[in-house]
Amino acid sequence: MASVEFKNVTKSFGDFKAVSDVNFDIGDGEFVCLLGPSGCGKTTSLRMMAGLETPTSGQILIGGEEVTHLHPKDRNIAMVFQDYALYPHMNLADNIAYPLKVRGEAVASRHGRAREVADVLKIGHLMDRLPSQISGGQQQRTSLARALVYPAKVYLFDEPLSNLDAKLRLEARGFLNHLQRDMGMTAVYVTHDQAEAMALATRIAVMDQGKIVQYASPIEIYRRPATTFVANFVGNPPMNLVEVEGTQVDGQLALKGEGLTMAGLPMTDAIGKALANSSKLTLGVRPEHLSLTAAGAINSISAPLFANENMGPESLVTIDRGEGARVTARIFTDDHLDVSDQVSLSFSAEHVHLFDAAGKRIPA
Ligand code: ATP
Repeated sequence: MASVEFKNVTKSFGDFKAVSDVNFDIGDGEFVCLLGPSGCGKTTSLRMMAGLETPTSGQILIGGEEVTHLHPKDRNIAMVFQDYALYPHMNLADNIAYPLKVRGEAVASRHGRAREVADVLKIGHLMDRLPSQISGGQQQRTSLARALVYPAKVYLFDEPLSNLDAKLRLEARGFLNHLQRDMGMTAVYVTHDQAEAMALATRIAVMDQGKIVQYASPIEIYRRPATTFVANFVGNPPMNLVEVEGTQVDGQLALKGEGLTMAGLPMTDAIGKALANSSKLTLGVRPEHLSLTAAGAINSISAPLFANENMGPESLVTIDRGEGARVTARIFTDDHLDVSDQVSLSFSAEHVHLFDAAGKRIPA
């Protein structure tokens, strides 16, 4: 296993910078998720680690050695692709054993090793089948087995679960989590699914427009998102973001917005600095930190009910503040709520996130 480092890595396609001056390091045994919307540069970053793309500038190091211009086969990495990329004319045994074959291992020993890995992944009984004769979930595990059959320094995953249905996806996610804990592999995993990143990663690199906007543990990203972009990307449903006007009243912070009042927040130097620049702030509250309250309560937000979705153990109660500005609460309620009923949702100061006019987190 080994570490991975990006030093000022940029990748341009013509005038367009797909990855822009990225610096980050992945420790030995870490499972890092690159998370972000479509087109933010995740796959390009992964392909540069694999050696399938060459950076326009900057350096990539694996295990402390520079590999920026090294051929993929000389990097000792294993990659799992979104479309599995299995060889259609080879049975599972040959598919899985392939990395050992190209390294010159004899038939008996490479098939023995392939079988061991396949058994762990519960596809050992399918070794004679062709990829077309097994299910999508089994194909996904075959592709995983092929990556794991030879000990690599770093394992790279490009949205490996995205072709699976929801149930298989959850099962495969749990399996990957188990594997990571068991093997302690160094892995980089590209996804645009925040739940997958939260479940698997030791650290998440949230990317936007070719840059890393936050690189931290899942819990840090959930508790202290660095920007409104990150706040809105992580969490299910994502954090509610409400435009508010901030003022200082009797040495404390008061917030006002459409249907919203909040008073008595402690003033800090950081808030003072943000207010000196602009009174326009964004208040963030996660759906799980809102609860139903009486109309007119302090520290609450009120608007007509837009939707009430029963999720089994809880409901998603969404209110509409006009012009599509909606706020969703994840709550346990048996209350009957009708569309257009005025609904008030309260929150406590400890669960409030504040962002300045530029969308940057104001530290507590
Ligand atoms: P997705 O989740 O959709 O796979 P991504 O975050 O992985 O997206 P990349 O595939 O890294 O994004 O692409 C980043 C940007 O670079 C995109 O705007 C894409 O169109 C552009 N891009 C990627 N490869 C090339 C290429 N070979 N030539 C030109 N532009 C490219």
